[in-house]
Amino acid sequence: MPSMPGLLATLTEKSFGHRASIAAIEQISPNFRRVDLRVEPLKSGWKAGQDIQFRIDDNTFRHYSVMAVDDTGTAISVLFHQGVDGPGSRWAAALSVGDDVIALGMNTPAPKYRGDRHLYLGDGSAVGVIHGLAATQNANGTASGAVEVPAEDREALAGLLPGIDVLPAEPVPGTAVAEWIEATASTEARYDAASLFGHAQSIQRQRRILLDRTELSKKSITTKPYWATGKVGL
Ligand SMILES: Cc1cc2nc3c(=O)[nH]c(=O)nc-3n(C[C@H](O)[C@H](O)[C@H](O)COP(=O)(O)OP(=O)(O)OC[C@H]3O[C@@H](n4cnc5c(N)ncnc54)[C@H](O)[C@@H]3O)c2cc1C
Repeated sequence: MPSMPGLLATLTEKSFGHRASIAAIEQISPNFRRVDLRVEPLKSGWKAGQDIQFRIDDNTFRHYSVMAVDDTGTAISVLFHQGVDGPGSRWAAALSVGDDVIALGMNTPAPKYRGDRHLYLGDGSAVGVIHGLAATQNANGTASGAVEVPAEDREALAGLLPGIDVLPAEPVPGTAVAEWIEATASTEARYDAASLFGHAQSIQRQRRILLDRTELSKKSITTKPYWATGKVGL
């Protein structure tokens, strides 16, 4: 629901909204900003890797991902990939410590991932979700994969993504990850399941390569588009 009439937006906010305030902000690299929020508890509990939405103006919402949750369940972090010319990115860039915001969260079960050997693929928009999910996965099994980000952010982000190769993005989105799969995916690289996040057109290409080059079945590959060329606010 990226955009809707103001009254409907207010009703949506009242149904799913939780009061939150910005507790801390850290510019972790040139294009990535981590924002920590104190937030009202979600009935089913906030979970690392779950979707969250913010109302960024009267009519507009944008989706983000919970990157981490503290032990009390009332402090969450979101990692914003900056530099996109859009209202969500401008809203995130303008946030300051002490600001009050509304966070929309659904009471959904924790994401279930089949198998221990999980492959994660993504881009800058997916660093937060992959950090959240792979941290849980690594407690029980082995998470691996690749994420493409601007070259100047690689070093800072590598520490957030253990087990994941952090690649320098090329001018055409998806190219670095597609080349990585082609270079590494063979019958020797065995995975039980895969999750593909980020640029819509790129994850379709990645899915095709995985189906062609690995033993992964259609059912074992989950795709979640976060943005698409020529579209606003997925
Ligand atoms: C479920 C879900 C979870 C998400 N989680 C995160 C998250 O944790 N962190 C995060 O930073 N983003 C996340 N996103 C993406 C986020 O919702 C926005 O797409 C992003 O902030 C850009 O919004 P915008 O309003 O600035 O740009 P828009 O108005 O949506 O788009 C403006 C233009 O920029 C292009 N564009 C959009 N995103 C990108 C990009 N990443 N790179 C290059 N061009 C782009 C669009 O194609 C469009 O042409 C998530 C999206 C979804 C659906």
